[in-house]
Amino acid sequence: MTALDEAAFLCEVCARLPNADCCGCHDCAGRCAGNLRITRTEFEAIRRHLDGGGWFPAVRGDADMVVPCEFQEPDGPRCLVYPVRPLVCRLFGLVEWLPCPRGRLLPPVPDGLEIIRTYAAFERHTFREWLRAERAGPGGVLDASARARQRTETAPWPQ
Ligand code: SF4
Repeated sequence: MTALDEAAFLCEVCARLPNADCCGCHDCAGRCAGNLRITRTEFEAIRRHLDGGGWFPAVRGDADMVVPCEFQEPDGPRCLVYPVRPLVCRLFGLVEWLPCPRGRLLPPVPDGLEIIRTYAAFERHTFREWLRAERAGPGGVLDASARARQRTETAPWPQ
């Protein structure tokens, strides 16, 4: 699929996701794992958002470790990129496998599994991997470990 397909898909899905009945408790913030694999469109949106604030995400441990998300406020649970957060974050509380810790689950999005399958088929890397590729210039080269992970992640979604 092309970059245009990816951007169109994200726009269409994000525009129709219902707003969860969120009370703003931040109880779900403990599940904001770091080193999320995001698409190029999401990387570019986050980069523009961060450039405006002059802030840059911290490195939080090894890329393969489960660590807190680098986009979480350093001393608190808030998401610093909330308006441009990745699709997987937007699905929180809207699909059965990402439940709200307080049980405030709206009727699940009917095509949640299809959405995540389509999303998983796009090229995705961590924010830092995209940044490295961008700095390497047009067609920037992603490192071997990023490519190996990508191969694993784009394997067919389990039925
Ligand atoms: S981008 Fe924001 S919502 Fe998504 S995991 Fe990170 S802190 Fe949580």
